[in-house]
Amino acid sequence: MKQVSAKIISNTEVMPGCYLLCAEAPDIAAMAGPGQFVMVKCGDKLTLRRPFSITSVTNSGLYILYSLIGKGTLWLTQRRKGKELDLLGPLGNGFYIEPATKNLLLVAGGIGVAPLVFLAQQAIGREKSVTLLLGARTAAGLYPTKFLPAGVQTVVTTEDGSRSRKGMVSDILPDYTDQADQIYACGPVAMYQAIAEQIQKQKKEKSIQVSLEIRMGCGLGACYSCSIKTKNGMKQVCQDGPVFDMNEIIWQEVKI
Ligand SMILES: Cc1cc2nc3c(=O)[nH]c(=O)nc-3n(C[C@H](O)[C@H](O)[C@H](O)COP(=O)(O)OP(=O)(O)OC[C@H]3O[C@@H](n4cnc5c(N)ncnc54)[C@H](O)[C@@H]3O)c2cc1C
Repeated sequence: MKQVSAKIISNTEVMPGCYLLCAEAPDIAAMAGPGQFVMVKCGDKLTLRRPFSITSVTNSGLYILYSLIGKGTLWLTQRRKGKELDLLGPLGNGFYIEPATKNLLLVAGGIGVAPLVFLAQQAIGREKSVTLLLGARTAAGLYPTKFLPAGVQTVVTTEDGSRSRKGMVSDILPDYTDQADQIYACGPVAMYQAIAEQIQKQKKEKSIQVSLEIRMGCGLGACYSCSIKTKNGMKQVCQDGPVFDMNEIIWQEVKI
């Protein structure tokens, strides 16, 4: 883990209210794995850092895909190319690809695509096949496929039917689970609940790795603000996660 002052290479709105930021941070990028995150100082004054998944890495830097939510992310949208950004990372326990896995199924709800892009990047680099089920409320909320690594097979759903199939991304999941060796998901809790129901209906013993975006203070395991009760006892999302096996989570205990 490193704390660096990273120069912003670009910070562009890629979907309404959603920005893709590239920062020059080769040390963090070299250490990072998919599902890990960085804590970003979002303000000039004394301010809590905000956690963001690493969306992808290059030799010289990393990308963050973020939604404009409140004070911190508003400040971030105003940081222009050439400005410095205080980053701490990589942090947390990320996604794991079994060496024997050939086919990965990725399920993304809205901005939840953020950590899955990096996972797809790593999997393609290891010559695995990647199918991404990409869902959003409307076509405008779909992550542009031009930013996805080449070779990812993408299947799109929108809740209002404004692009491709109408419905939730979890509706089409049963059509793809058989061919998947491993399944990964990131999105709202409601999506995880729908996925869990679908898998139960299919009576499949599939493990699904999910990334939990719980509110957190320090990101370092010191403040315990992101503690959750799991089937295996208390866990800190920032250190034990943010990636967990879906079966381990007691969803009633998860408060985002
Ligand atoms: C491991 C992890 C990875 C994340 N990855 C991404 C990502 O890739 N892209 C993205 O857009 N967002 C991501 N988030 C959520 C992101 O951290 C919040 O949207 C952001 O902190 C909001 O800050 P704000 O000051 O603009 O909002 P405010 O609402 O003003 O924030 C108030 C406080 O609540 C916290 N907070 C608010 N919403 C969330 C949330 N959903 N999760 C955690 N803390 C929150 C902030 O840290 C802050 O301290 C991630 C969260 C976690 C825990």
